Amino acid sequence: MRYGIISDIHSNLEALETALDFLADADAIICLGDVVGYGADVNECCSLIQSRAIVTLLGNHAAAAVGRISPCWFNPFAREAIEWTADQLAPDNRYFLENFPLVYRSDSFVLVHGSLSCPERFSYIASPAETLPTFAEMPPNTVCFIGHTHIQELYLYRSLGCEVQRATVEPGEPVCLEPDFFYIVNPGSVGQPRDRDARAAVASFDDEARVLTFYRLEYPFARTQSKMRSVGLPEMLSLRLELGI
Ligand code: ZN
Repeated sequence: MRYGIISDIHSNLEALETALDFLADADAIICLGDVVGYGADVNECCSLIQSRAIVTLLGNHAAAAVGRISPCWFNPFAREAIEWTADQLAPDNRYFLENFPLVYRSDSFVLVHGSLSCPERFSYIASPAETLPTFAEMPPNTVCFIGHTHIQELYLYRSLGCEVQRATVEPGEPVCLEPDFFYIVNPGSVGQPRDRDARAAVASFDDEARVLTFYRLEYPFARTQSKMRSVGLPEMLSLRLELGI
């Protein structure tokens, strides 16, 4: 199957629609978490994900918005957006978010928002050293897809004693994943990229051919910003969309 892999939507409807249009020919869509938080289109993004994704994970912002973790762990801007998001959630969407799993496993991949070691802690994998506890939890020949950092990245690891490598992957360039390596893949963030590139980030993965491709997609972020400003979300959260931070 060819999967469209998305993560960290953060209530950004314009970016989500752009991502799903681009991945329309995928056999299935997987969402690695954080459908809500930061942006204005809370219920619209929940409904769209509910109708399109075959599996959606629990992210830390969604967990806080439905009371599964405390908002006190977040910075003041994120906390304000989480509290606003919690007030907007329709009952059916709240139920939808409450029931997301922390981890999902198939024969060919495992999915988690943060890290496989204590997924409920939402630890970040942002360096080769931080991958090790997750590689230790992975069965052979599987690929682990993560989100959370909002950075599009690929880590690979061969076996005990070998160093973890961070691969450089150009968007649009297919990468064939070797059978005797372990891989951790972050498709980046659809709704709030943080690598100084404002374009939405997504990935596709063919689990039979084991081919991974990263993509970056232009979307009309000015429309997203104007909705966020009109509902009074912090200006910093709107501004960061055009800066990709
Ligand atoms: Zn996020």
